[in-house]
Amino acid sequence: MNDGINAKPEMTIAYKLYGSLYLNITNRCPNSCVFCVRKSKNGVGYNLWLEHEPSLAEVIEAIGAPSGYPEIVFCGYGEPLLRPEIVEGTARWLKQWPVPVRINTNGLADLFLGYDVLPRLKGLIDVISISLNADNASLYQKLTRTEFGEKAFPAILEFAKRSIKYIPRVILTVVNYQEVNLEKAAAIAETIGAEFRVREFME
Ligand code: SF4
Repeated sequence: MNDGINAKPEMTIAYKLYGSLYLNITNRCPNSCVFCVRKSKNGVGYNLWLEHEPSLAEVIEAIGAPSGYPEIVFCGYGEPLLRPEIVEGTARWLKQWPVPVRINTNGLADLFLGYDVLPRLKGLIDVISISLNADNASLYQKLTRTEFGEKAFPAILEFAKRSIKYIPRVILTVVNYQEVNLEKAAAIAETIGAEFRVREFME
C-alpha cells in the first residue's frame, strides 16, 4: 500500500503521519541504529525507499497545499540534513503559509558535511528534534553503530548547543532503553537549554 501525498506508487516523498505532513528526502544516513524504523517489516505504513533523491521541485509538488496541517516535518528513511539545500529551499517556500516546520535529525550533519549547517536554517525551521539517543558516547555508538564512532556523541552535543542560537525550539530525545540513564540524559538537555523527550525503544 502506498497512499503518500502526490507520490508515485513506488516512491513516497510526502506522507501523513499523526495528522502532520512528513517529508522523506533521502535514504542516506551515517548511522545504522538498532531501533531504526527502516528495519521493521511495516515501517511507517508507506514505502519510503526512494528510487532517487527528490529535487526541490519534486518535494514542493509532493507537498501540494501545506495549509491545514498542524506541522510539516522533515523526517523519512534517512537523515534530512544531509541535503541542506533541499531543507532550506523547501522551508523557504513554506514560509508563504503560517505552518510550523520541524526537522528530525541525528545531529551529525556537520560531521558529515564538514561545515556548520545551522545558519542555513535560521528563520526557516521552528523546531529541531535531535536524537541524542543515549547519555554517553560508548552507549551511543552501541545503539546507533554510527560510522563516526565515538566522535559522534560530543559532536551532537555541540550541534545541540549551537542549535539554540538559530532555532526557537530545540528538543533532545533519547530512547527508553534499559542502559540509557534517563536522568543523566535529561540533565544534559537541561544544561544545553533544550527540551527533553523520551522515545519508546523498538527492537
Ligand atoms: S539516525 Fe535515524 S534514519 Fe539513521 S539509522 Fe538511526 S533511526 Fe535510522
